Amino acid sequence: MANILLTEKCVRSCPYCFAKKHMDLSDDSTFLSWEDLIYIIDLFDIQGTKHISFLGGEPTLHPEYVDFVLYSAARNFHSTTFTSGIMSVKKLEEAVKTFKKIPSESFNFVCNLNHPDLSSKEETEKIEKFLTEFGQQTTLSFNIFDIDFTMEYLFDYIERFNLQRHIRMGLAHPVV
Ligand code: SF4
Repeated sequence: MANILLTEKCVRSCPYCFAKKHMDLSDDSTFLSWEDLIYIIDLFDIQGTKHISFLGGEPTLHPEYVDFVLYSAARNFHSTTFTSGIMSVKKLEEAVKTFKKIPSESFNFVCNLNHPDLSSKEETEKIEKFLTEFGQQTTLSFNIFDIDFTMEYLFDYIERFNLQRHIRMGLAHPVV
């Protein structure tokens, strides 16, 4: 599987983020171009790899994100988007409308869900709207970055939004 970084920009500032240094320096010029996306997909097509992942920062911030998913599906690639689930109303509406045009098996999401205490009310509302729309195609991701942590809220989300019954675990450790 190929990981493709769409942007270094992000909507959050997670305490364990390994990309923070880059995000602070990023600007619009760091958005992946169409030419580069097509080059990468051509390359993996030749190699027979048919699964790509869109990462960031927050990949859905890329202005062409929705079209990138559409394009990869048209090339018979399965795309996984690693997201915080925090999208603008406009971007979410665009994704809901557009992704109806492609088979549901051609894309899915991994949502990195922080503890609700780390999110504002507005962020939580956006995440829940995203999960309402795409819950059945979403797997949660959780990062352990502290000795004292709880995961109970993840199970609540899985039940409430009918998410995939699978949790992707990450372990963040201090940079020496
Ligand atoms: S969502 Fe990901 S890229 Fe954004 S701040 Fe959190 S860990 Fe970093």
